[in-house]
Amino acid sequence: MSDQCVFCEIVAGKVPHAKVFEDDMTYAFMDINPASDGHLLVVPKRHSKDLLEIPADDLTAVTLTAQRIAKTAIKELGADGVNLLNCCGADAWQTVFHFHLHVVPRYVDKAKDRLVLPWQPGVSGYADTITALADQLSPALD
Ligand code: 5GP
Ligand code: ZN
Repeated sequence: MSDQCVFCEIVAGKVPHAKVFEDDMTYAFMDINPASDGHLLVVPKRHSKDLLEIPADDLTAVTLTAQRIAKTAIKELGADGVNLLNCCGADAWQTVFHFHLHVVPRYVDKAKDRLVLPWQPGVSGYADTITALADQLSPALD
C-alpha cells in the first residue's frame, strides 16, 4: 500500500465505494464520476503508479478482469459496446496515480452515455510524419 493513495485505501476497504469484483490480484469498483452508466475502474491490488511501472503479471491480470467485466456489461447492462481507457501521466489526463483501466460501457441511448470523442480523427496530409514516427519507434523497441 502506498501512502496517500485513494485507490490503495479503496482496496483496503478504508474509503467507501461500490465494489463490483475482486480476485487475488485485481479489484474493480464503480467510478465516482461516471462517464456512462456502469463506468468502473479495475486496479491491481499491488500499488503501481502507472503503465510504465506496473509489472507484467499485474497488467495481465487487470486486463483480463477488464475483459470479463466488459462482457458482463454487454450482457447484463445491455451496453452496445465498451471502451477501455488508461491515462498514463498527468499530461495524458491521469489524475489518480495508481494504475487503473477504465471500463466504460457505451450505449446508443445517450441518456446512459455522456462520453464524447476526445480527438478529431482523420487528420489529412500527415503521411510523411506517420512514416517517420514508425521508423523512429520500430528500431527503438526493447
Ligand atoms: P484518471 O483521470 O486518473 O484516468 O481516472 C481517475 C478516475 O478515478 C476518475 O474517473 C475519477 O472519477 C475516479 N475517482 C477519483 N477519486 C475517486 C474515489 O475516491 N472513488 C472512486 N470510486 N472513483 C474515484
Ligand atoms: Zn495505490
